[in-house]
Order: sequence, then structure tokens, then C-alpha cells
Amino acid sequence: MRNEIILISILPALLLSPLVFAAPGEAYGIVTNVVDGDTIHVQIQGYDSRIGNITVRLADVDSPEMSTPKGLDSRNYAYQVLNGSFVSLDLDDDTGKDRYCRWVAVVFLQKQDGTLANFNRMLVDSGHACIWDFKNNEFDPATWWNWTIPSTACRKDSPGINDSGSCSDGSLVGSTSSRKYHYSCCQWVKEISPGNVIKFNSSQDARNQGYVPCKVCSPP
Ligand SMILES: [Zn+2]
Repeated sequence: MRNEIILISILPALLLSPLVFAAPGEAYGIVTNVVDGDTIHVQIQGYDSRIGNITVRLADVDSPEMSTPKGLDSRNYAYQVLNGSFVSLDLDDDTGKDRYCRWVAVVFLQKQDGTLANFNRMLVDSGHACIWDFKNNEFDPATWWNWTIPSTACRKDSPGINDSGSCSDGSLVGSTSSRKYHYSCCQWVKEISPGNVIKFNSSQDARNQGYVPCKVCSPP
């Protein structure tokens, strides 16, 4: 009797074990909260029981701040389309999570006909987000439109940053909490908390202090 009880209690764990050992890659689940236009919570299902409820930052798009009317519009749009919906996630295999521990992903919605709709693209097409192409993840937003981004799409390209991701503003900065140094116009500099920003006189100055060049903005 006792052995039977033990067997019954460990059986579900045995059945789940292939899922438990799966490496994070693709996932699916239900949207349980919409924080703003480009940040959602997803309850992961049938994938990896360790993951559970995760925060997802939509890759390569940027919605207006929630303190603005456009930010609220964008959040309302995402809420109407996504909240309670079943979504598939293409998780970024290059970076995984961003520095706020949000999983970076392209979010796909299952349509009535069984095909998938790319919600990151829907946000841009509907005017609720700009494209912000981070070069450090696996995604290239151009692929969402078969390599031709419509001219009407909003592009968020930081001043001085060209297509190859480098920028020409000469000043160099870093963060006290990392070992990378950047051009001050690099997209990653916006993510450094103001209290942590340090300035360098030259590349040599940065290197002497143990810093290495950012691969996105490629300072000398
Ligand atoms: Zn940089």
C-alpha cells in the first residue's frame, strides 16, 4: 500500500521530466498582464515548469512611455489584443534576458485560421511602437516584412547611430556596474542608471581602467 502511494506521487514527476530538462528556447502560454505596449507577463504552459510566469520585453520595438497619452494608447491596444490570449514566444537565443531580467522575444498570436500573427510587427503597423533594432539579439525586424520595412513604419534610431550600429559622437562613457565602454550615443547608454555613468577622456583612458569596447557601438 505504502509503495503504491509513493509510486502514484512520483508518477507525475516522471511524466514531466522531459519538459523539465528541456533547454529554454521556444515557449508558449497565456498572457496574464500587459504592463505597457512592449512589456507583458506570460504564464508559460507545457514547456518548462521552472519558468512559470515570466516578464517578456518585446524584441526590437519601443512603445511610448506610459506617462504620455500615446503610451496609454499603446498599452490599451496591447491589452485588447493580448490579454488572456494564447501566445507563442520566439525567445532570443543570443541574450536571453535583458538587464531588467525580462525575456526578450517576438510574440506570436494564433489566428482563427491557425496561422500566426507577429504581434511585434502589429504594434509597429498600428502605429503603437517604433522599430528599435538592437543588434545584440538574434532578431532582424526587416524579416517581419519580408525584408522591406514599410516607409510608414516609425524608426527609433538614436542620433548619430548609423545602420551598422556605430556612432560618430566622440565622447566615451561607461557604467560603474559593467566593464563596457560606449560612445555616449549608443543605445545601451540609455540603459545605464544616471548615477552609474562615468566619462572617459579617451579610449586609452577607458582601457587603462579595465574597460572593453561595446560590440554594438564599437568605439575605438
Ligand atoms: Zn555601446
